Amino acid sequence: MEKDIKQLVTKSCANFIDGKCILLDRECPLLVGGEYRGKKIAASDCSCTYFEKDVLPSNKTVEAFYYGKETVLNKSCKGCGKGFNSVSNRSAYCSDICRKSARKKTFIKANQKRAK
Ligand SMILES: [Zn+2]
Repeated sequence: MEKDIKQLVTKSCANFIDGKCILLDRECPLLVGGEYRGKKIAASDCSCTYFEKDVLPSNKTVEAFYYGKETVLNKSCKGCGKGFNSVSNRSAYCSDICRKSARKKTFIKANQKRAK
C-alpha cells in the first residue's frame, strides 16, 4: 500500500536523510508529492529512479504494489470501465471482447438511426 512505499523510503532509502532527499535537496516526492510546471503532483504519481533501482527490489510486496498502481492509473476500459494496463496509447478497451462488443453497439445504434 501507499504507506508501505513511504515506510520503505524513510527506512531504507540511502538518500533519505533528516526528512529530505539528498539527491534532490528537498522533501522526497514519493512522500510529499511534487510539482511540475506549476501543477501539483500526488505522491502516488511520483517516481524515483534511485528508489526503483536500489530500494524497491528489497521488498517484493511493495515493489508489486508500486508498479501495479501505475498500471491501474494507466487506462480505464471504454467498454467495461475497468482499469487496465496498455502498452499502446491507442487502445481504449481492456480486451478484444470489450472492443468487439463496443463495435457491435455502435453498429446497432447506426442501424437504429437509419430505421427511423
Ligand atoms: Zn473492458
